[in-house]
Amino acid sequence: MRYSQILLPTLKESPAEAEVVSHVLMLRAGFMRKLTAGIYTYLPFGLAAIRKVENIVREEMNRAGAQELLMPMVQPADLWRETGRYEKYGPELLRFHDRHERESCLGPTHEEVITDIARKELHSYRNLPVNLYQIQTKFRDEIRPRFGLMRGREFIMKDAYSFDVSDEAAGISYMKMYDAYKRIFTRCGLEFRAVQADSGAIGGSFSHEFMVLAKTGEDTIVICKDCEYAANMEKAVVKLVASATTEAPADLEKVETPGKRKVDAVCDFLGIESSRLVKTLVFKADGNPVAVLVRGDHEVEEVKLKNLLGVADVEMADDLEVFNATGVPTGYLGPVGISIRVVADQEVAEMRNFYVGGNEKNYHLKNVNFGRDFQVEAVADLRQITAEDPCPECGGRLEMTQGIEVGHVFKLGTGYSQSMNASFQDSDGQEKHFVMGCYGIGVSRVVAAAIEQNHDENGIVFPMPLAPYTVIVLNLGIKDEALTAVAEKVYRELQAAGLEVIIDDRDERPGLKFKDADLLGIPYRLTVGNSFLKSGKIEIRRRSDGITEEMTPDQAVASLHARISAELKQQ
Ligand SMILES: [Zn+2]
Repeated sequence: MRYSQILLPTLKESPAEAEVVSHVLMLRAGFMRKLTAGIYTYLPFGLAAIRKVENIVREEMNRAGAQELLMPMVQPADLWRETGRYEKYGPELLRFHDRHERESCLGPTHEEVITDIARKELHSYRNLPVNLYQIQTKFRDEIRPRFGLMRGREFIMKDAYSFDVSDEAAGISYMKMYDAYKRIFTRCGLEFRAVQADSGAIGGSFSHEFMVLAKTGEDTIVICKDCEYAANMEKAVVKLVASATTEAPADLEKVETPGKRKVDAVCDFLGIESSRLVKTLVFKADGNPVAVLVRGDHEVEEVKLKNLLGVADVEMADDLEVFNATGVPTGYLGPVGISIRVVADQEVAEMRNFYVGGNEKNYHLKNVNFGRDFQVEAVADLRQITAEDPCPECGGRLEMTQGIEVGHVFKLGTGYSQSMNASFQDSDGQEKHFVMGCYGIGVSRVVAAAIEQNHDENGIVFPMPLAPYTVIVLNLGIKDEALTAVAEKVYRELQAAGLEVIIDDRDERPGLKFKDADLLGIPYRLTVGNSFLKSGKIEIRRRSDGITEEMTPDQAVASLHARISAELKQQ
């Protein structure tokens, strides 16, 4: 491809509309342009990156035995009414009437359409399992579309749906997709984790989210440095390390803590570590007060509390609400003699001779012991995991990081097949509902996430498998016949070697050509400049680490061919 001929409108400045780095860089690098809120035109270079992801996805889906089809974007409301989703789905579902006043919607997802296909076309257990997928434009009418391709209204998605005879068979289909997703994101050259998204408690459903690790990600996840464990913060299980203390319970004492209400102030005043103190926090569980005990240096995880109490909503009570419920002023609440329900984090039960609020202004209690001095309704893992905790799987070291969700695999069960009465005849002659799974990948989002993970102050640093071109040849002597001849020759030879190469043949300053090459993130840059006239050598520079080497044009072509083939094979 010739730079002088491709539509690749790069920008020097960051556009004001862009808030996140992938959005800024995709606009600056001329990947796309906004048509209206959350809706973009993909320009040739951006589309080329999207196609790279699509090709990897398609190859791995096919390899896993899935079959590609293409469903319509416009869907009749009646189909959505069968599952109750036409009413239940929020305003993200764009509903409209066609010229015959028929209600319709633009598909944000395709469970209804695919289940309709299955009930009409799959009749026997002999047809199963089947996994059908498409790569297609989806529409979700987000209220506040932002971050470019990260949360657009229109986006490209791969969605797959599996149909099986039983739960067990559906589990096999699920694992096939799980493995395919691992191969897909590995082949994309991305650092990612599969995060368990659902505990599996509800209706046999089960799911994993695939997260690309990036400091700018919206979701906080905890990952193990020593094994593959990864979890959302609110799901991460804290492994209880049993206390090894042989300390004998000492006599309960009341200690004065005048005006000391915060954990740090109390601990400083008493000269103790915050891990020796137990905080008593009051939450409103569906409106009713519950006290939660947690070590002074830990935080309560509200999702875990909600699950333990079996309520829809928990919220921290404010000072006045705490006083009204307990009669104790803020900062001095404790479990000894408390009048409301109490639950405790599991670690509190392991502690000996600790400190708590004295349920009286300006007082705390010392040498408090669980069981002897107070009782609780339940003991459970109720706190947020920290980087100091051991990995719940292997005991290894944990790390907190941010992630961007790019894929989701989900065991659906029979919810859709029951509501739409989609069934097949099993080997025993019985009519049974299909057991389904669904599997999504945000194809356009993968490109944005790849940029969030791989960039520097000069622009994008594409992982080799996603780069629209793997080499850019800079001809710095457009008006010099000798230099132009060399640049054109290496360009032709690289193409002949099967590499995806673009030549910057524009009549522009060298400085601008260097800047654009960096911005576009093409993995290798080949520079043909004045030094060739003296030394007979041209320069190869790798975008990821800036390492440069000089060699003859023939050597450069051979070297790039070898390196790029090797790097692509590694994935
Ligand atoms: Zn681990």
